[in-house]
Amino acid sequence: MLMTADDYRESLRRYNPRVFVNGLQVTSVVDEPLLSPGINGVGVTYDFAHQDKYRDWLTATQSTSGQLVNRMLHINESSDDLLKKLEAVRAVCAESGCAQRYLSHDALNGLYQATQQTDANHGTDYHSRFLEYLHRVQDEDLTLGVAMTDAKGDRSKRPGLQSNLDVYVHIKERRPDGIVIRGTKAIVTGAPYMHEFLVMPCRTHTPEDADFAVACAVPVDAEGVTIVAKPAGRPGEAAAKFSAKYGQSTGVVIFDDVFVPHKHVFLAGETEEGGFLTTSYANHHRHSCIGARAGFGDLLIGAGALMTEANGLDPDKHGHIRDAMVELITITESFYACGIAASVYPTHDPSGVMMPNPVYANIGKLLLATKIYDMHRVAHYVSGGLVVALPGPDEDHNPETQVDLLDVLGANPNVPAAERVEVSRFIEDLTASHQGGWYSMISLHGGGSPEAMKREIWRNYPVMEKTELVERLLDRGVLDNGQKVSKQPGRCCAKGCEPPEAIGGSESE
Ligand SMILES: Cc1cc2nc3c(=O)[nH]c(=O)nc-3n(C[C@H](O)[C@H](O)[C@H](O)COP(=O)(O)OP(=O)(O)OC[C@H]3O[C@@H](n4cnc5c(N)ncnc54)[C@H](O)[C@@H]3O)c2cc1C
Repeated sequence: MLMTADDYRESLRRYNPRVFVNGLQVTSVVDEPLLSPGINGVGVTYDFAHQDKYRDWLTATQSTSGQLVNRMLHINESSDDLLKKLEAVRAVCAESGCAQRYLSHDALNGLYQATQQTDANHGTDYHSRFLEYLHRVQDEDLTLGVAMTDAKGDRSKRPGLQSNLDVYVHIKERRPDGIVIRGTKAIVTGAPYMHEFLVMPCRTHTPEDADFAVACAVPVDAEGVTIVAKPAGRPGEAAAKFSAKYGQSTGVVIFDDVFVPHKHVFLAGETEEGGFLTTSYANHHRHSCIGARAGFGDLLIGAGALMTEANGLDPDKHGHIRDAMVELITITESFYACGIAASVYPTHDPSGVMMPNPVYANIGKLLLATKIYDMHRVAHYVSGGLVVALPGPDEDHNPETQVDLLDVLGANPNVPAAERVEVSRFIEDLTASHQGGWYSMISLHGGGSPEAMKREIWRNYPVMEKTELVERLLDRGVLDNGQKVSKQPGRCCAKGCEPPEAIGGSESE
């Protein structure tokens, strides 16, 4: 069943999670105004699946069940799937800033692969459990929060050496019917209004830390789960032209001896496969992040163009404004192009899952992580200082001030001053408010900090092919010495280097 946004809102009433926001306990998540921009954002992924314009991107057929499912819960099997997922994520995030639900998708794909690999290596039955879970999640059209990033404690120490073991989620007890987990996941987007959490390891673990290599599904209101969250976006703020409607909450999720039945356990101590799960999730997720931030780029490009017009400037006549806008377009479309390349040159995982090409996916994510600050700069450059200097909406028609601000803050005679002010507040909201900072930080650290991408690019990039190319052009390393082709100078033939015979005349010719 494909839910609508309204169905999704209603479905949240079936859950009763323990949630705190701003120090107060939330009695009903769906009725809490401080969370409503986040629920609206997730809702976009539901409603777009019913719209003709987006149906092809936002829905897909799950081959293992034959069912039509929301794209955000689908397992990729082709390059076309990857492209459609990318377009879908861009569309929902252009509408909502961040729609969260692509994280559900990325985790499901990573788990599909990792459970198969674990079964193949250890003779376990994780994959059949997972498949049953996947089909239920798809049938019920659920939204899953990704509980991966542990609190981590002292970054220089591995989990088992932390003074407080609860800075990482771990298995505390193994029972005949399941496991008991405890610990803290520090950053979970949309935590209060998820249906369930997918708990996964955020790093590779050594065999001594086997109990930290755990992956499982936990309902948001399971006994022992507490969510301490921030408000979603800027609810109720009149100046927040975007974030009063859309924006994601993030929550710290505390697992205090939470029982997980076997049917929802997908990894329990297999450290090598835990590392594989982290990496494959990250690969899917970085590919999705490219779509998400391209959607954010769409918002800035549109707002920058409107602000330029409201200021009375024509980019065709004012080259520096056009250049700035072209820079914004180039940044957005260049990292998006990496997402397309990652979809067009994918990697086949033995499980049948189609993986985005890891080099292009990581380069795209690395680009957006660092270029997000340039995107903000360009939006500020073309707009002017009003973006942060504009008094609040309550002053727009204050009878006490000498002038009506809207009378004096107009620029282009063809654009009403109120519209200039509105776009100005929109840009402030997306780039210079605390919500603007949220978008920078999710771009920089979401899906892993830049160092993680650099490691993956270096690990996967075929540097050897390039050295072989240059060596071939230099006539090096092309002869077989009988055992292997040597690339070392002076070892280019089986007998060792011999001085070339002089061909007539003197050697100096
Ligand atoms: C808005 C937002 C939403 C997010 N949503 C989710 C979510 O839904 N689910 C989820 O699981 N996660 C989520 N994340 C978390 C994200 O994946 C992490 O922020 C990211 O992996 C970095 O982890 P960290 O924040 O703990 O920073 P740290 O790991 O502390 O990194 C800080 C810096 O220290 C460096 N560093 C860290 N450890 C070491 C080390 N051992 N040696 C050398 N250098 C080190 C890093 O490279 C980095 O430069 C979200 C993050 C943000 C900002």
